[in-house]
Amino acid sequence: AEPLNVEAIREDFPILQREFDDTQLVYLDNAATTQTPEPVVETIADYYRRYNANVHRGIHQLSQEASIAYEEAHDRVAEFIGASGGREEVIFTKNTTESVNLVAYAWGLEELGPGDEIVLTEMEHHANLVTWQQIAKRTGAECKYIPITDEGRLDMDAARELITDETEMVAAVHVSNTLGTVNPVSELAAIAHDHDAYMFVDAAQSVPNRSVDVEAIDADFLAFSGHKMCGPTGIGVLYGKQHILESMEPYLYGGEMILKVTFEDSKWNELPWKYEAGTPVISQGIALAEACDYLDDIGMDRIERHEARLAEYAYDRLTEHDDVEVYGPPGDDRGGLVAFNVDSVHAHDLSSILNDSAVAIRAGDHCTQPLHDVLGATASARASFYIYNTKTEVDKLVEAVDDARQLFS
Ligand code: PMP
Repeated sequence: AEPLNVEAIREDFPILQREFDDTQLVYLDNAATTQTPEPVVETIADYYRRYNANVHRGIHQLSQEASIAYEEAHDRVAEFIGASGGREEVIFTKNTTESVNLVAYAWGLEELGPGDEIVLTEMEHHANLVTWQQIAKRTGAECKYIPITDEGRLDMDAARELITDETEMVAAVHVSNTLGTVNPVSELAAIAHDHDAYMFVDAAQSVPNRSVDVEAIDADFLAFSGHKMCGPTGIGVLYGKQHILESMEPYLYGGEMILKVTFEDSKWNELPWKYEAGTPVISQGIALAEACDYLDDIGMDRIERHEARLAEYAYDRLTEHDDVEVYGPPGDDRGGLVAFNVDSVHAHDLSSILNDSAVAIRAGDHCTQPLHDVLGATASARASFYIYNTKTEVDKLVEAVDDARQLFS
């Protein structure tokens, strides 16, 4: 695959031209949120300028235009992740977190009980971990955690032992937002299905960065967020197999998800509207579809390669010094991020010194506190890459880390 034309891509992101004290921004916090390209910003502005209206309620022209664009956005997202069922299998939510909660409440609260087990991994984001932990508490089910190896990969032998006929749900992150590990989620799905359990994939760090095919994985559910893939905030996606979504009860009640209401009872609308109560995320959904176009125009395989190259380069340069620990698998086998610690510098100090050089990274527990316990760290610094980042920016990161090291040694 051809390398990305990063220079041309950067022109779509005016925010990258920002300077702080005459130093140009180096944005390396993409695992938290990516920047928004002009075509997506334009799509949002165009919606509000030309056809802003509530959907599915008016027969007036504006409402019809908004409804069609909003519905077709579901089809576009379905195509982006290989969901052949189309819009029926794509629910728009607020974010990945809400997508997990939707399944946990609508399916978990109904179906789980004492003796049932939910199998998670030690590297889950709080969005996936806390949600199932609390649903387990409320239902009497139990959570089990697939351990990680010294290299930061899932221990698949342990996984095969932990997933049993007691297991009702296997919920695992596709690409770890801390370790950068790419997990064998299709293998996990096969093991889950052997035991008649469902497979939930947290794809918040994979759908934005690589080609993801929900049917190749054979995921029963899969979740991700628009704001990590050039889309706006305020929109997430829950993919679900149609027959499973049909069989579940709604998560939120109200308008829009209704077919028929009497004083005594109500009937639910068809998929996916059954799970989209109230006025939905209209402009965000339409803009997310545009973000899918934008990423597909660049090419997901090329995006994956570009990020992997940057991550490997960052890994190699950061580990030139013995006092740096990078977490997770080797540099040539990871998603586009590196979380690390420098012996003499706390991650928060590091991040603040990097900020003085206009290098934006994240410091903290990245919503993986239990994983940090396993790693023996309370916090780490994390640089995460996207389509507009360059090797020169990685060099600036490494130089700023060197400055911090000297300041504290
Ligand atoms: N899972 C993973 C792996 C993530 O990286 C994130 C975002 N940090 C989330 C879930 C939660 O995403 P959101 O905050 O958009 O709900």
